[in-house]
Amino acid sequence: MIHIDFSHFTPPSDWVQRQQRAMQRLLEARVNGNWRDYIDSRSDLWTDLKPYLSALSRQKCWYCETKAPRFDYVVDHFRPKKRVRHANGTECEGYWWLAFDWHNYRLACDYCNSQHEGEDEEVRGKSDFFPLLHEDRRIHNPGDNLDDEMPLLLDPVVDGDYALLWFMQDGLPYPADEEGTFQYQRAETTIRLLNLKDERVAEARKALLLRCQRLIDRGEKTYLHYCNGSPAGMIEYKNICREIHELVAPDAEYSAAAKAFFKSSPLKWVRDLV
Ligand SMILES: [Zn+2]
Repeated sequence: MIHIDFSHFTPPSDWVQRQQRAMQRLLEARVNGNWRDYIDSRSDLWTDLKPYLSALSRQKCWYCETKAPRFDYVVDHFRPKKRVRHANGTECEGYWWLAFDWHNYRLACDYCNSQHEGEDEEVRGKSDFFPLLHEDRRIHNPGDNLDDEMPLLLDPVVDGDYALLWFMQDGLPYPADEEGTFQYQRAETTIRLLNLKDERVAEARKALLLRCQRLIDRGEKTYLHYCNGSPAGMIEYKNICREIHELVAPDAEYSAAAKAFFKSSPLKWVRDLV
């Protein structure tokens, strides 16, 4: 997961005008009872913002950080727009008034957004799920305060949420906080619901972390030469530092895993780089 900074994002002005007109029509459709059809008919609104959202993440899925140049990402509604499904099989009305609200949009790969069968034959994917810590505090009306809810899904646009996932050398994500805590529950729910332990993604992260380890091994030797006054050691050390910076850069695939790996190094020069 990567952190997406929405603070400087503004949709194009013509889009905002279309959104405002659509919101008016949606309120009318609520009265007429055909609001679900109207939401479906205006998918152009969130689809048209896709290039802007993609630019914010340097073409990576906001949830799993997969970068697929030929893959057509989808715009996920963080709070489901038409219905919310519960783990026990029941469902309730979705957050319809957020259907055209760009603050509710997250760029996602199809694998995170839709339901797929995992290697263990269990079906996972965000879909219409939006679990809360307290279901009885779920809001159902536009005037209600979203902050009254405690979402169990980690949110890329909330600063700090991405850091609640930690990655080990096996390429798998784990909750960063202690078991039994609320943040552990959120990380565990996110990993499970979005299938972040998917074998293919885990293998890609594992290969990346092996590359990170090889860089550290090379860097440790050259760092010692550098500290002993070797110009060649200094040049090689600088090259390794540049490579490490590239792996943790926001546009690098699975940069959160690389960052976690370097941060957990016992070597100070490595930790100081990230
Ligand atoms: Zn994804």
